[in-house]
Amino acid sequence: MPATVLLHPAIDHGLRKGADDFAGGTLVCHCLDKPVKVEIKGQVAHNHACGCTQCWKPEGAIVSIVAVAPTADVRVAENGDKLAIVNPAATILRHACKVCGVHMHGPVEKDHAFKGLTFVHTELSREEGWQAPQFGAFISSLIEGGVKPDSMGAVRARIRELGLEPYDCLSPPLMDALAIFAAKKSGVLAE
Ligand SMILES: [Zn+2]
Ligand SMILES: [Zn+2]
Repeated sequence: MPATVLLHPAIDHGLRKGADDFAGGTLVCHCLDKPVKVEIKGQVAHNHACGCTQCWKPEGAIVSIVAVAPTADVRVAENGDKLAIVNPAATILRHACKVCGVHMHGPVEKDHAFKGLTFVHTELSREEGWQAPQFGAFISSLIEGGVKPDSMGAVRARIRELGLEPYDCLSPPLMDALAIFAAKKSGVLAE
């Protein structure tokens, strides 16, 4: 029997169900001194395990756990001067703490289906009740992050065992949102 595949400490022991009437919480970076704090009002959506190489993940994790919130509901509350944008050319403007490296919030500001949404990692908050992960995304990209191709079967099996579908892109509703945006742009679909 191969050892259990470890994906991320927040899901390795099973998913924790979110609370329906969750009010939100505060994300705190890993700095002991003057941590960056980001407040989120209300619940997040589309929380997922992401296999891409761009999203922040804690030491030892192979997937990132990342969700979105309306940018209007995300506010840098403390020590925002420690933040810097990881890649200004990326669709998601991931703002990382310059000291500890944790990504604190990643708004989409350019003309895009996800404009107005901000990507966040709810594991940075002490509050309980955040939406549980709903699916796996970009799982094949784990290979680019260093996962051996011959362990992908075990990785996908473990993701399914947790109750998540291991997609190699985003989930169908999010892929549809991208296609709807493109179809409206081209005129195939009426505004
Ligand atoms: Zn920090
Ligand atoms: Zn990602």
